[in-house]
Amino acid sequence: MSGMLFNRQRLYCPGPTPIPQAAVAAGMDASIYHRSDAFYKDLLQCREMLAPFFGSKELPLILTSSGTGALEAALTNLTDVGDSVVVIDAGKFGNRWLKMSEAFGLKTTCISLEWGTSFGENGQDYSLITDALSTNPKAIFFQANETSTGVHHDVEKIAKLIRKDSDALIVVDAVSSLAAHAMKMDDWGIDCVVSGSQKGFGIPAGLSFISLSEKAWAGLSKRPRFYFDLEKEKNGQKTGSTAWTPAITLVSALKVTLGLMTDAGLDNVVAHHKRASMAVRAAVSSIGLDLLGKQNPSHAVTAFKVPANIDGAKLVSCLRDDYKAVFAGGQNQLKGKIVRFGHLGFFDFLDIVSGTGALEMALKDCGYEFELGRSLSALLNSYRQSAKTL
Ligand code: PLP
Repeated sequence: MSGMLFNRQRLYCPGPTPIPQAAVAAGMDASIYHRSDAFYKDLLQCREMLAPFFGSKELPLILTSSGTGALEAALTNLTDVGDSVVVIDAGKFGNRWLKMSEAFGLKTTCISLEWGTSFGENGQDYSLITDALSTNPKAIFFQANETSTGVHHDVEKIAKLIRKDSDALIVVDAVSSLAAHAMKMDDWGIDCVVSGSQKGFGIPAGLSFISLSEKAWAGLSKRPRFYFDLEKEKNGQKTGSTAWTPAITLVSALKVTLGLMTDAGLDNVVAHHKRASMAVRAAVSSIGLDLLGKQNPSHAVTAFKVPANIDGAKLVSCLRDDYKAVFAGGQNQLKGKIVRFGHLGFFDFLDIVSGTGALEMALKDCGYEFELGRSLSALLNSYRQSAKTL
């Protein structure tokens, strides 16, 4: 395509997300030693700035791993072989909890939801959770955002329901939801929340974050463990010292993005994501595309069905190759059937305008019939409108 030279690649996948220049610059200093007072101070400062994202008075631990590493740390530090647990599986990541619980010898009751939906729709009542509590589980695992389908589970509502009948540990994978949605661990009675660096925190992949409630710390499992030994990490990280060599440069970058979000105010950061989600949903549906997550949309990613006469894989590659707009396709059973438009972390309004423009162009190129500019108009109108309410 002509003009390729002038196309800058833009990320619209739900992680990795765009990285602000100041964080890129901070992450280039390769001269920092992790057994130094300067690094200890940075790590502690990051832990303190992370805590409000989790909504807990406990300081989260910073681990060097992708998000899945921290999911595994949660599961192995909180459960013993043979424990009964409940898993909510509404997509690829819910299914990851299921696979993991099977790999680590748990007796698992799985609540399977139709992909693209949550509780309270499609005849999937919240009572499915209450029913599963009859197995007297040690822990319940679910996602805040099911990133594979663009659905947000109502964490507060689910936690309240569990707390009415059970003191099971509530463990939430918030890898793609922190910064995009509020999380109030202490107020909602949540025992463990996990997140990752390459999503709402706007730095590259390689760090994960995990916070445990007082109750969870008091009831750690007896399993053997080594790399992901949370008690060992907790003891060291009290003074900023990690058990192993951490991804030092990512901690430097994280300090910058956490500082930027702290200055902006966490409520404003969440509102930024909500406005983007509302605008993108208005845009996509204005040209007749069918949204997933109709009732409980994620603020981080909008998923929509690819029209029947269009090849989903071709649409995603057209976006990427011809417009340098990196969208995500569907995974597993949704492969080729949906497109995911991420709006997470350090994107700005003009980024979603560009993304919507690229989507229109690619849809036209792939043969979808609609009036060019219609979804852009819906996007702009929604964004102007929501400025008055959010
Ligand atoms: N959980 C959720 C909800 C996610 O969105 C992701 C990544 O997309 C993960 C877990 C896995 O994280 P990672 O790929 O960093 O291991």
